[in-house]
Amino acid sequence: MRKMRSMKTNKTKGSSVMKKTQLISLMSPTKVMLESCISTQKKKSRSKLLKQTHPQMLRSFLEMMILIMSQHNNVPVKPLLSEVTSDDPGKICVVIDLDETLVHSSFKPLNNADFIIPVEIEGILHQVYVLKRPHVDEFLKRMGELFECVLFTASLSKYADPVSDLLDKCGAFQSRLFREACVFHKGNYVKDLSRLGRDLSKVIIIDNSPASYIFHPENAVPVVSWFDDMSDTELLDLIPFFERLSKEDNIYDILKMERTSS
Ligand SMILES: [Mg+2]
Repeated sequence: MRKMRSMKTNKTKGSSVMKKTQLISLMSPTKVMLESCISTQKKKSRSKLLKQTHPQMLRSFLEMMILIMSQHNNVPVKPLLSEVTSDDPGKICVVIDLDETLVHSSFKPLNNADFIIPVEIEGILHQVYVLKRPHVDEFLKRMGELFECVLFTASLSKYADPVSDLLDKCGAFQSRLFREACVFHKGNYVKDLSRLGRDLSKVIIIDNSPASYIFHPENAVPVVSWFDDMSDTELLDLIPFFERLSKEDNIYDILKMERTSS
């Protein structure tokens, strides 16, 4: 469209190169992690690899291997979400992305930042400046009234969890899922909706990155990436669409109609 918690436990310009790299590692999934791990493995012995690989990198790699092995051996994987509460048996589950969908974050100090999140990276405390997308408060409030809302981000929980605490004042998110809940696939962290533990015909994902929902594009409501445009009305414009969707039995028909009309 233009104009389409369970697991809550669950850049000053000059200083730059290091900080940009750290921000990417914190918030933006890349294929660097796996490629680096594989090339390193070719060159070094296993013991050296274990000593020298960054703990986060190693953890992600092992989680991915466990997931692949369990899927290969048909071992049931525990659903990402806890069972639906009896008060909301028929509600649609809406998975909502964080960065560039609801907020934009940067290491560069911003005078108009809505939140400043201290995040420790490799033993050093950094400040992350967070801007809220216009109308995000109205959007989250209404979405929380209509749906079972889940925050699902490929970002690390040490950044995304405190952002969510400050952003979601109305308590829209019933669950929060972070990077470790994603599947690493062809260089991207993919949000595999089939692992949620919900009927897929009642799951919708709202995300600015098509790679995030590459396994289930038919369940997606794409949104334009947001960085700093304070006149942006994307979230406000989506509210009537979701109000209509909340009353529908077949989400696929409506989402398909939106895709073809945009
Ligand atoms: Mg995003």
